[in-house]
Amino acid sequence: MDIFEKIGGLAKRRGFIYPGSEIYGGLAGTWDYGPLGVELKRNLKEQFWKSMAQEHENVVGLDAAIMMNPKVWEASGHLDAFSDPLVECKKCHKRFRLDEIANKKSEAPNPKQIRNPKSKIQNKEGETHCPECKGELTEPKQFNLMVEAFLGVIEGEKQKVYLRGEITQGVHVNFKQVLNSTRVKIPFGIAQIGKAFRNEITPGGLTYRSREFEQMELQFYIAPKDEEGNKWMEYWKAKRKEWYVMLGMKEESIRFREHAPDERAHYAREAYDIEYHIPDVNGSDKLTTSDSAELTTNWKEMEGIHHRGDWDLSRHQKFSTKDLTYFDEETKERFIPWVIETSGGVDRAALFFLMEAYTEEKISNDKLQISKEEGKEETRIVLKLHPKLAPYKVAVFPLLANKSELVEKAQSIHDMLKKLWMVTFDARGNIGKRYRSQDEIGTPFCVTVDFDTLEDDSVTVRDRDTMKQERVKINDLGDYLKNKLNS
Ligand code: ATP
Repeated sequence: MDIFEKIGGLAKRRGFIYPGSEIYGGLAGTWDYGPLGVELKRNLKEQFWKSMAQEHENVVGLDAAIMMNPKVWEASGHLDAFSDPLVECKKCHKRFRLDEIANKKSEAPNPKQIRNPKSKIQNKEGETHCPECKGELTEPKQFNLMVEAFLGVIEGEKQKVYLRGEITQGVHVNFKQVLNSTRVKIPFGIAQIGKAFRNEITPGGLTYRSREFEQMELQFYIAPKDEEGNKWMEYWKAKRKEWYVMLGMKEESIRFREHAPDERAHYAREAYDIEYHIPDVNGSDKLTTSDSAELTTNWKEMEGIHHRGDWDLSRHQKFSTKDLTYFDEETKERFIPWVIETSGGVDRAALFFLMEAYTEEKISNDKLQISKEEGKEETRIVLKLHPKLAPYKVAVFPLLANKSELVEKAQSIHDMLKKLWMVTFDARGNIGKRYRSQDEIGTPFCVTVDFDTLEDDSVTVRDRDTMKQERVKINDLGDYLKNKLNS
């Protein structure tokens, strides 16, 4: 089993991620987040907001509409250039993204290159046959990824709009409004989190490539000077990498990959991907997942850091005929600012954090506290999620479910802790099974109320990662957990 199957199985079984509309046979490329997934995603977005908007006094927030005047997409270049190279098998009629089925990925045109209207699509040797039935493939065609919708009440007069393909443009069209309604001065940024939609040719790899997903972005406006561009590119590259590491990714699981000039998107002057190294728990170099042909290497894009120059504002100025220049009071210069963008996927980051956290440990039965043959080894599945990301911070148990004095005491501790964090209560099965169940969903601490608790007002606190147990006074429990969760 590879990591996608393991995470997919766990995510569905424990309520992180479900296939979208499954009872109706599903809808390709859509996913629903269950009770635990929604907490994980909320925590991720909260951490993004804290690091970008709260901790930078020169960054403000925005939440733009998903549907915008279609002229926005004409101006941004998405109607012309937001497309992937599509080929179809003449025999089985399956459709593929040309770059995904190339024999050598490095030689295949990159989607971003194709999104550059100036670049030419080439079908290279070895990409002429269907990877499934070996039938002949058609010549590649540009396939626009924008999702269309229709607004209005009179049939025949409905207006075609688009569900945004990226959340970026909502920020740029509001640039002047933010300037006029706040006291921001260049350099400053606008952060935003929200849904984006793409008619991806081959969604797959769980949520890795979906048709509906969330992005978390910063558009950072600077003076149009090379030294400013270099300075802020470096600053935001470092900040974003630091963020992933702070939340538990190993340094060696992350790298930057610079885009070659002919690979960059139509708007980019300079571009880097932050890539994540997908672990293969079976120890092989190549991923074996079958549901996405593109996932054949372990390094995959997690976030893009782009120097967008003045592409967006100058295009919106031209298409809207509104003045989108900035006047610098200090230098008395008027200019169209440049933009440094950080653009990450919330769903992709959530998936990669789950992969990074997924651990299988061989452990003896006595340590796991399950009453099977003593000394026998078992596999413990544990999600070593950073406490800031873990859906539940604490689980509270009464040692025995049929002793009302233990259950009531545990309930009162649960009621006290739930005011501080998302916590859960479990009285099913034996204590060992409860620990395993919480390990599998990444709960950092389990608190058990036993008979001694009734005498000494202390509880046992068990640490997910070390499995060590400590006795803690109920009066000190809040502070004890606060220190541990924040350390
Ligand atoms: P890719 O090369 O994987 O198609 P991209 O370069 O087109 O991605 P951007 O337009 O730079 O992606 O979007 C920024 C981020 O949004 C990506 O780094 C990724 O995390 C996320 N993202 C983009 N497309 C998808 C998708 N179809 N499903 C899930 N997340 C996505």
